[in-house]
Amino acid sequence: MLKLSIKEDAMAATSLPIPRPGAPLPGGMPLPEIYARVSRHVPAIEWPALAPDVEAILRLKRERNAVILAHNYQAPEIFHTVADIVGDSLALAREAVTVDADVIVLAGVHFMAETAKLLNPAKTVLIPDMAAGCSLADSITAEDVRGLRAKYPGVPIVTYVNTSAAVKAESDLCCTSGNAVEVIRSLGVKRVLMIPDEFLAQNVQAILPEVEILTWAGHCEVHERFTPADIREVRESYPGVTVIAHPECPPEVVAESDFSGSTAMMMNFVVEKRPSQVVLVTECSMADNIAAANPDIEFIKPCNMCPHMKRMSLKNIRRALETMTHEVTVDPTLADRARAAVERMLAVRT
Ligand code: SF4
Repeated sequence: MLKLSIKEDAMAATSLPIPRPGAPLPGGMPLPEIYARVSRHVPAIEWPALAPDVEAILRLKRERNAVILAHNYQAPEIFHTVADIVGDSLALAREAVTVDADVIVLAGVHFMAETAKLLNPAKTVLIPDMAAGCSLADSITAEDVRGLRAKYPGVPIVTYVNTSAAVKAESDLCCTSGNAVEVIRSLGVKRVLMIPDEFLAQNVQAILPEVEILTWAGHCEVHERFTPADIREVRESYPGVTVIAHPECPPEVVAESDFSGSTAMMMNFVVEKRPSQVVLVTECSMADNIAAANPDIEFIKPCNMCPHMKRMSLKNIRRALETMTHEVTVDPTLADRARAAVERMLAVRT
């Protein structure tokens, strides 16, 4: 069941830009201005408890020559205060290549930190909590991929970035929800294996009927919970609402929606089309993170939260920079093959 909450008074919002990939740091920004970026989500009474961690993180980033890459599902007090680069998996992978720093802190989940390490082998990559996993990444092993290759010889294997480096190493190339269609088109084949997200593969199949897409039974534990009945319910309660669904949702949910795309595509859609009322059928924090920059839009918020993304906190980001833990490494025997799969994806024009 979709739980909804309406965002607070839009008039109280400060019109703020959404941090973009490659956006400048808020490093020199005074704390009151940083607070203004999250005042819709953090009550003034709670800010004194968070401000020391924000201040310490900004100082530690300068001392360590570190940057923080934060996924769009991070809580606003991370996304809007200490993150240097924010975005979806594709944006973070792209920006990770160009990062000019000695240390990368990944405020996201483990496979994202591994991807950052693959693309920056000489840099130190930290994740504040090693247990920040992903149900999709856990759904498939390298041995499973070798089994698929044996069963379907000659069929290219396109692997979602939400997988371990070991799984990427067994793949031909990677994709994200933002570029999956272009990646498969770029192969120019009639049949592909697209793993491990069954729903993403089925949603791409609907766009590319000319290609036979074989898949795996992996699911995102956040997006698989949405149902077509949820969408119908929200439309009944909010006639005229625009519904935007992430393609990790079941195809029946995407079919009930007005638009489907990666989190970056969702943001762009909202900014360009400016619907007066919108529901983003994805993880909870997405709406929070773009609401501040769009006070004229009413966000009706689904409350499915990713427990892995929410393992990140200002406290453990601060600890990561203080203690330089937890360092993410990739087995050197598979790093080159995994990197090649990611780089082949990045070479596809979107
Ligand atoms: S939202 Fe889903 S796909 Fe993303 S990290 Fe969480 S479980 Fe994995």
